[in-house]
Amino acid sequence: MLVTFYGVRGSIAAPGPSTIKYGGNTSCVHVRLNTGNNLIFDAGTGIRKLGMKLKQNDEPLLLLLSHGHWDHIQGYPFFDPIYQPGREILVCQGVESNAIALKAILEQMDGSNFPVHAEDLPSKITTVQQVDEYLTAQSFNTVRKDINHPGGGNAYRIEEDGVSIAYITDNELDPPGAPQTTYYQWVEFCRGVDLLIHDAQ
Ligand SMILES: [Zn+2]
Repeated sequence: MLVTFYGVRGSIAAPGPSTIKYGGNTSCVHVRLNTGNNLIFDAGTGIRKLGMKLKQNDEPLLLLLSHGHWDHIQGYPFFDPIYQPGREILVCQGVESNAIALKAILEQMDGSNFPVHAEDLPSKITTVQQVDEYLTAQSFNTVRKDINHPGGGNAYRIEEDGVSIAYITDNELDPPGAPQTTYYQWVEFCRGVDLLIHDAQ
């Protein structure tokens, strides 16, 4: 498993001298599994640079979104593979409770927010609504959990060949009101991971 960070900022891209060390782009992490599967977590502005690399081949891509807030989708219109004819891209939008918010990734390409319409893209983009069922059916071992965040969203845990990572952004451990996932459920979800990717706001 090879994990590469392309964007680690929240809320808005923040270029400049003070963010040079970790970069100024918003959320995007590429995970290349030993099986050759390409998993992409979030499509913030960091996905633009990842796209430049991925367009050099035509392997299928799986985009797993945490949620549909701007800092997690804004790079998508600048992701080169969506302009590759026939390129297979699967976008996991979420479960029923948060799928409406996650539609934003495609709806932002409506001719108003962005000049190109999503339906005019030449790539083969498929959206997955039943994410839990989809992930269960795959050969790689990935599970999803509801994050505590306005509008809802997803966290993911991936395991392969004895190595595990968890991707949990924008999550409130102690949110106002009833949590989607309790602190103790998070403890179990993250238990033993080799790498925990978590925001620190
Ligand atoms: Zn958010």
